[in-house]
Amino acid sequence: MTDASEPVLQLENVSKIYPGAVPVTALKDATFTVHRGDLVAIVGPSGSGKSTLLQVMGTLDRPTSGTVRILGDDAAAMSDRALAGLRAERIGFVFQQFFLAEHATAVENVADGLLYAGVRHRQRMRAAATALERVGLAHRLDHRPSQLSGGERQRVAIARALAGDPAIVLADEPTGNLDSVSGAAVHDLLTELNAEGATIIMITHDRELAARLPRRIEVLDGRIVADVTAAPLLAGRRLP
Ligand code: ADP
Repeated sequence: MTDASEPVLQLENVSKIYPGAVPVTALKDATFTVHRGDLVAIVGPSGSGKSTLLQVMGTLDRPTSGTVRILGDDAAAMSDRALAGLRAERIGFVFQQFFLAEHATAVENVADGLLYAGVRHRQRMRAAATALERVGLAHRLDHRPSQLSGGERQRVAIARALAGDPAIVLADEPTGNLDSVSGAAVHDLLTELNAEGATIIMITHDRELAARLPRRIEVLDGRIVADVTAAPLLAGRRLP
């Protein structure tokens, strides 16, 4: 059983300083918790520290100080190898540039996302087909990325992120490479997937887009300057 209040990601006083002749403090004392079932926007202008935050939340990089916990486990205490396993099993990544293999079909691209988790081939293909159905691409299983629109490619990437049933989906500017109509469709899809139970953290520089999500964490100059949870929507309108 899943517990809606279970913390899936906890950051405590997380800072990141990039060393150099002039060291850059890209993140300063970031503290917040994301619970199972949350849909969170991390919003800020270019250079505010969003990518750095994504790297430490996704355990792709280690913070200079502070604690990052995934499902209660302290990432600092884990080896690089253990972290790679944790990422493969617990975190789904979606990037602005899709990162799909051009020679592979949609279903193969999604199935390859499960390779690391050690799932057998037939099971991988079945899980991949199910994930593609979930994102509305059941009719595109055997298409290669070049035969898909930008919006469809991002749906494939989202299906790949979801196929392993991760605890958290980290989406980095997922609509950044899409026209406004495809972008809105991908945004709606992420909202639907969240309604079905997926925990999603979306990084964006688009304040309008962020304002439409239930929770918004604002970053400026490496600091969290706001963490706002909106009133729930009722019949498409915000409650006062
Ligand atoms: P955003 O994603 O919001 O554009 P970043 O996290 O990429 O912000 O960058 C935050 C700050 O850290 C910027 O000042 C940037 O120049 C700096 N920075 C990012 N990555 C590095 C790095 N590898 N080495 C040095 N400085 C970096």
